[in-house]
Amino acid sequence: GRRKLVVGNWKMNGLRAQLPEVEAIGALAAERPVVEVGLCLPATLIMAASQVKGGAFVGAQDCHMKDNGAHTGCLSAAMLAEAGASWTIVGHSERRQDQGETDADIAAKALAARAAGLKVILCVGESLDVRDAGGAEDVVSAQLLASLPEGAAADWLAIAYEPIWAIGTGRIPTMEAVEAMHKALRAALASRIGAGEANAMRILYGGSMNGENAAELMAIEDVDGGLVGGASLTATKFAPVIAAA
Ligand code: 13P
Repeated sequence: GRRKLVVGNWKMNGLRAQLPEVEAIGALAAERPVVEVGLCLPATLIMAASQVKGGAFVGAQDCHMKDNGAHTGCLSAAMLAEAGASWTIVGHSERRQDQGETDADIAAKALAARAAGLKVILCVGESLDVRDAGGAEDVVSAQLLASLPEGAAADWLAIAYEPIWAIGTGRIPTMEAVEAMHKALRAALASRIGAGEANAMRILYGGSMNGENAAELMAIEDVDGGLVGGASLTATKFAPVIAAA
């Protein structure tokens, strides 16, 4: 079976004053080793957070696709790994939108991360227009295949399905819609990397996951965990999500 993976994405939130929350979440993770737990933090907290002992890994939220060079303000995967990250997110919809990242950029970032020894959570998801028009499974499957790096394998890559309209809105798709999407994404993976590797790869759900809906979402057959924004910012809110996995 696939080990559940529950990851907090703190986005642009968190100063050193929040390190006690990191420590408390690390303690929750240590109490529940059956679940793999991590926090993708602002880069400025990665070094300090990775020195806090506990059971949660520390990850980044993005990396550059190049090893080094004239890219003011950007961080390479090797820099993030050196700071203490063991994972990074790539392709979050907020970066696809705000920074104009393309599927090809995201595949390149995933490869750069892997080369630096980072594991990767690759995000995909549809807009509300696409959801309303119907056929979201086909659109998101195509987005996944276009963003999927060469050599994609379950030991270093996980997928996060995050419907854009569910992020930070308190709205989630129906359980049937989540089930259909995750099934479609696993089939798309199988078409590219083979059924065995696709069956081993974790596919997370993200978008308004919280202590109230996490158990139902993660009970869906092809939902292998969660990528959690708002409900990961404190140990109190994150605890029931970790407990539900
Ligand atoms: P929320 O859990 O705040 O909706 O954010 C989801 C998300 O974008 C995680 O990457």
